[in-house]
Amino acid sequence: MLVDYHIHTALCGHAVGEMEEYVRTAVEKDLEEMGFNDHAPTFHVQDPQLAMAADQLPLYVEQVRALQKRYSRPRIRLGVEADFVPGHEEDLRRLLDRYEFDYVYGSVHIIRDWRFDDTRLYPDHYQGREAAQAHRDYFQLVQRSARSGLFDVMGHMDLIKKFNHWTQPKIDELLEQTVQAIAEADVCVEVNTSGLRKPCREIYPSEEILRLCRRYDVPVTLGSDAHHPREVGMDFDRAVDLVKRVGYTQIATYQGRRRTMVDLA
Ligand code: ZN
Ligand code: FE
Ligand code: FE
Repeated sequence: MLVDYHIHTALCGHAVGEMEEYVRTAVEKDLEEMGFNDHAPTFHVQDPQLAMAADQLPLYVEQVRALQKRYSRPRIRLGVEADFVPGHEEDLRRLLDRYEFDYVYGSVHIIRDWRFDDTRLYPDHYQGREAAQAHRDYFQLVQRSARSGLFDVMGHMDLIKKFNHWTQPKIDELLEQTVQAIAEADVCVEVNTSGLRKPCREIYPSEEILRLCRRYDVPVTLGSDAHHPREVGMDFDRAVDLVKRVGYTQIATYQGRRRTMVDLA
């Protein structure tokens, strides 16, 4: 079976289209399951073009619930993509407790106050940064997010490569540590096709990382990171190829934050 668990909505301020249009693409692509996974309200910054505001969360949940009633295929799950920002763990825990999410993604989009994945700020914010340090900082945050107990799935777990600005420093040990931390925390890793549409031109995470995930028995799931209805399920043939090539036969699905492994289509 195939799922797309990473679908945004216009509520975050940088995605377009009606929620139902995203569902219709999933119908056309014959996905058995999809999940809305919009950017959760943030605590570290208030930016209407970054994430939904706190007072929009009830509306988001209501709209997903309404679509769930109207569609049986694909099954529609309620997810949320939350920023991992040290110091705001308890704020986030309280927010997540307010609704019965099917799954929660943890994503690292910011290193201290550096929004390294923000196209609007690129490339100015990269000036004077050092690649090795940025990779260390980034993957340490991924490890902390895995250990936080807040999340079911790590979103785009090597997002730091997005702009492919740096030649990749030698970071094998750091990657293995990170995958180990994820395995110990029993968290899933998302195979995210949006990297193919970014300057790095590569699925998140890399094949090298996915091989480590396989070796440490880390479950994986699939996401397109759609910010436009036509992006739902995009490049999933390539994602499935990759996942199978490194040895997976199953993917993780979620309901009420419980994981069920299903056979890959
Ligand atoms: Zn987004
Ligand atoms: Fe993200
Ligand atoms: Fe996203």
